[in-house]
Amino acid sequence: MSGPSNDTANRDDLVTALQWQIDVGADEAIGDQPIDRFALAAQKLKAAAKAAPVAPAPVPGGNERAPQPAMPSPTPAAPLAAQDEVAASARSMAEAAADLAALREALAAFDGCSLKKTATNLVFGTGQSPADVMLIGEAPGRDEDRKGVPFVGVSGQLLDVMLGHVGLSREENVYITNILPWRPPGNRQPTDAEVTACLPFLARHIALVAPRVLIFLGGTAAKTLLGRSEGITRLRGQWYEYTSPALESAGIAPIPAMATLHPAYLLRQPAQKRAAWKDLLSVRQRLDTLTK
Ligand code: URA
Repeated sequence: MSGPSNDTANRDDLVTALQWQIDVGADEAIGDQPIDRFALAAQKLKAAAKAAPVAPAPVPGGNERAPQPAMPSPTPAAPLAAQDEVAASARSMAEAAADLAALREALAAFDGCSLKKTATNLVFGTGQSPADVMLIGEAPGRDEDRKGVPFVGVSGQLLDVMLGHVGLSREENVYITNILPWRPPGNRQPTDAEVTACLPFLARHIALVAPRVLIFLGGTAAKTLLGRSEGITRLRGQWYEYTSPALESAGIAPIPAMATLHPAYLLRQPAQKRAAWKDLLSVRQRLDTLTK
């Protein structure tokens, strides 16, 4: 009996290994060579141990925990002064943009967020401006990164259907964007530094679209734009007033804002669609009272 050839067995192993990487979210090549981060971490620990001062003798009755070697941080945050510089340059670039086209250009020229290096496309925004409703999600996924348009994957399709049921659509009265305009590799959670770097552009984006109502899709958008720490299940279903220095300097009054569940979450938890539907009906009612 002859078994599979070595070539076939190797190929099967490679395909299985590749599938495993995709399953854990490593679906983008971000360098030409693999980096052995375990070896790097071990080297850093060795260097830190060498440089560490000799531990003082324990004080009786004091804190007797032995000093621990510093753990290497997975993504070293930029020094505070550098972060301040990034924020200042984002603010001045965003403020100088007189319209959406100029804001898109400014964002494309902005180098203060490292996600730009790994993303395929800038995902700016889509829909009507001015808009009745502006929706803000978290960050582009794989489909959005490929096309350069927000919410074009399966969660976007669900979103479009839900909006359609309350008379809203990108073609008529809705504008859609995200907290981040570049895809985080493997769809990982955005870091605070990435969000902070891009926020001045979003604040200006909202001022330029000047919607009558805002909808924050999911926890990242709701927490970031409302400055709150609670989870989305607590924040959803209520009305807030969104304002920002960018709105104030454009002379725009605070905008009514609703937080609701993210459509990607609804795909995983269809029983929650009922809650999201309630939120959308509340948005519809609010729009109707604003038009009267
Ligand atoms: N999820 C988001 O938050 N935004 C998109 O554009 C797509 C999926």
